[in-house]
Amino acid sequence: EQHLDGAWTRRWIEAVAAAVSSRKAELTALDRAIGDADHGENLDRGFQAVLGKLDALDDGATPGAVLKLVATTLISTVGGAAGPLYGTAFLKGAMAAGERDALDAAGLVEVLTAARDGIVARGKAELQDKTMVDAWTPAVDAAAAAGDDVRAVLEAAAEAAQAGAVATEPLVAHKGRASYLGERAIGHRDPGAESTALMLRAAAETR
Ligand code: ADP
Ligand code: MG
Ligand code: MG
Repeated sequence: EQHLDGAWTRRWIEAVAAAVSSRKAELTALDRAIGDADHGENLDRGFQAVLGKLDALDDGATPGAVLKLVATTLISTVGGAAGPLYGTAFLKGAMAAGERDALDAAGLVEVLTAARDGIVARGKAELQDKTMVDAWTPAVDAAAAAGDDVRAVLEAAAEAAQAGAVATEPLVAHKGRASYLGERAIGHRDPGAESTALMLRAAAETR
């Protein structure tokens, strides 16, 4: 379909929950190297809670309503750095989606931009600080340049986020727990950048 409706948004979130669950150990292993070894568990706890609440949402729920439910659930269940950051991202995305029944390419770019801006406002990370922003910002830029086909926008965002996550490997961290490690963080991929890439890859694969 050319426009992303509430049912699509719900399928996307279910795909994120499944991907987080199956890659939980991998995300936690990344966080073990440069953090406190809980990123996979944190996100899995959050998205399993989201799955439990999606059932109660009515069938006609808009994209914004689905995103808002994800936001409030992540804020109350994930904790740590990533909980409030992803919670803010989904909340700002929900606000950008507003009451629309479906998102076209321009609407999708607005939502992604608002999500990224929310993360930056909350966490104050700049590009190359070795955080999830290093996946979000290239994703937003690629999405905005991808034209007016929603599938092309989703694919561009997913590819750019993954490249951004890989590109955190040589960096020293300036935000979050990894910043305590100085040069010892070099050579390790940022877990939050990888989970962002996972979420956007799930979006690109959701029909
Ligand atoms: P915690 O570090 O509290 O255990 P998580 O392990 O769940 O939380 O999440 C860690 C991730 O959060 C990091 O990999 C990074 O991507 C992200 N992060 C941490 N601080 C910031 C920040 N100030 N801005 C953006 N992202 C951040
Ligand atoms: Mg952690
Ligand atoms: Mg922690």
